[in-house]
Amino acid sequence: MQVTRATFNDVMVPNYNPAEMVPVRGEGSRVWDQEGKEYIDFAGGIAVNVLGHCHPELVKVLQEQGAKLWHLSNVFTNEPAMRLAKKLCDATFADKVYFANSGAEANEAALKLARRYAIDHHSEAKDQIISFKQGFHGRTFFTVTVGGQPAYSDGFGPKPGAVEHCEFNNLEMLAEMMSERTCAVMMEPLQGEGGIIVPDPAFVKGVRELCDKHNALLIFDEVQSGVGRTGHLYAYMGVNVVPDILTTAKSLGGGFPIGAMLTTNDIANSLKPGTHGSTYGGNPLACAVAERALDVVNQPEVLEGVLKKEALYREILGKINDKYHVFSEVRGQGMLLGCALNEEYAGRARDFMVAANSEGLMCLVAGMNVIRFAPSLVIPDEDIVEGLARFERAVAAVVAG
Ligand SMILES: *Cc1c(COP(=O)(O)O)cnc(C)c1O
Repeated sequence: MQVTRATFNDVMVPNYNPAEMVPVRGEGSRVWDQEGKEYIDFAGGIAVNVLGHCHPELVKVLQEQGAKLWHLSNVFTNEPAMRLAKKLCDATFADKVYFANSGAEANEAALKLARRYAIDHHSEAKDQIISFKQGFHGRTFFTVTVGGQPAYSDGFGPKPGAVEHCEFNNLEMLAEMMSERTCAVMMEPLQGEGGIIVPDPAFVKGVRELCDKHNALLIFDEVQSGVGRTGHLYAYMGVNVVPDILTTAKSLGGGFPIGAMLTTNDIANSLKPGTHGSTYGGNPLACAVAERALDVVNQPEVLEGVLKKEALYREILGKINDKYHVFSEVRGQGMLLGCALNEEYAGRARDFMVAANSEGLMCLVAGMNVIRFAPSLVIPDEDIVEGLARFERAVAAVVAG
């Protein structure tokens, strides 16, 4: 059957507006479309393809597990799920893991757990969840309500209650809002969708202190910042602030859908049998792929490589900006970088993304003012150099009008 981009409009619910080209094949950080045109991939499936496309180790484990056992449900456990959980616990603060299929589901579990923990240990009245403006936590109704962009949560009728939003990086405001009624604070240790915003380390430490003071749980949403993206296995390790609950997804499966919630023994005890669940969560195929992705990413050479590649991006982007004066700053960490547009180009991030696509480069935006790069952590330096040469041509085209 012949399908083209026009087919999308015929048969897909119109909640997305994908690019005109239709990718059909990928290898490393290169992708080819239906016409055979080649692209360099700085989008990484939105911070998912942590080892690029069709990494040989991931293809191998997928084929091996695919010939062995695909699915069981949670009526039975399985070896890949237990191995992955063990490795996640060994590598982080966590003692216990809950598996889901996406970031939103991992966050949904985290929020339900925080509420249940407060009821178990304090009272029903301790129900306030505080999160941050511009934050993003997924699209289920609870998680999108906790997210800090009302445009995403409005228009669906009554929202889950007791959710309040604070300004990011504003510790005084948070201190004002918190009390013994606060159940949990949920934050991204590096805001992704909201515009690649790295919080002040003192702010993150302050949030931890306020949570301790008011017996509130600190939930780090590391769905975008996790699994090596910042050059640390998880971003919390870079700021030295340990959360009570951490969620991880996107890069965790390297392109295979999986999400996970990590926590301590004490907190995990509030999710007793029957309190929460998922048919696919802990699926052996997903866990086998994620286990291998984690093995590859969690090596000093790979994590150090992320910082070297970040330096290369920043050096070349600086030169592009010296020539064209389009960015006010390049921000972010590791392989999660944002080029914030200056006043003159305000609101035009999408124009740059579309121009880049024409030049053979896939990239992302984060809001209307930031061009976002979230490539593979092992993208070859040649692909960074060639991709940024294409990006420079796109910048020149936008500047020329
Ligand atoms: C992408 C993202 C989510 C949602 O993940 P899905 O897999 O799309 O449900 C949640 N939190 C953050 C920080 C994200 O970047």
